[in-house]
Amino acid sequence: MKRFFSRRTTIFSIIFAMLILCSFTYFTFCNKTTPVPSVPIVINLEPKHEVIGKSVEQRPIEAFTYGNGKTHILFVGGMHGGYEWNSVLLAYQFIDYLSTYPDFIKKNMTVTVIPSANPDGVYKIVGKEGRFAITDISSDISKDPGRVNVNGVDLNRNFDCNWQPKATWKNNPVSAGLEVFSEPETQTIRDFILKDNPVSVIFWHSMSGSVYASECNNGILPETLNIMNVYAKASGYNAIKTFDSYAITGDSEGWLASINIPAITVELKTHETVEWEQNLAGIKALLDYYNSTSTPQ
Ligand SMILES: [Zn+2]
Repeated sequence: MKRFFSRRTTIFSIIFAMLILCSFTYFTFCNKTTPVPSVPIVINLEPKHEVIGKSVEQRPIEAFTYGNGKTHILFVGGMHGGYEWNSVLLAYQFIDYLSTYPDFIKKNMTVTVIPSANPDGVYKIVGKEGRFAITDISSDISKDPGRVNVNGVDLNRNFDCNWQPKATWKNNPVSAGLEVFSEPETQTIRDFILKDNPVSVIFWHSMSGSVYASECNNGILPETLNIMNVYAKASGYNAIKTFDSYAITGDSEGWLASINIPAITVELKTHETVEWEQNLAGIKALLDYYNSTSTPQ
């Protein structure tokens, strides 16, 4: 009997010990809130892609925006459409570069690229919308280079700076539209600028291999001279304060000067070359300039 009790005590002791062990295990490892698995923070490096307006023939005018800093710089290509298609290709190459190297845009900056301000003009020589390659360019662009828009208006004579209905291009008369901002393309650029209020605007054209300042009726803004010199020095293009080859009215850069936004015109050397390295150097210098002069965020 004594042996029986001893064995029973041992069994109870083992069961008791197991209960203690199970309770300890449960309260130690099981009675806890299940931890939420850590989710890696993914920074969206994709640009903000917007259709900011439509051309006369309803082709989209697109804007690609990188970064979300306070200092907003705008680049515009293709104001003169197919006639200056290389300025559009340069803008697309810059977009590709920003997508590949998002760190290029510092924290305090936002960069927007409007690659093709006159998409109907580009369509005339390329035959497609949006992205294109040099091989898409028509071999015979002499008949209709697509410089003006579908209404026959030179868009860079349709802005609000000393606008006149009949403007000039190389001393030849060109239509500047029925009134200031009569064209959907110029309305699009105007509305984007007034909404986003960029710190400066860079227009890519061709073909003089120069960087021009801008002015309307109150002289050149000091900041315009600064960025003209920064871009010209880094790119190797000539810096020219005042375009005096022929009279220009209603140009976009002059309108920007009239509303106190510095603007420069960068003209590539030819109508067929992108001159990427030169322009990348100019862009880098410009962004470094703003990075050094703006307040850290
Ligand atoms: Zn042009």
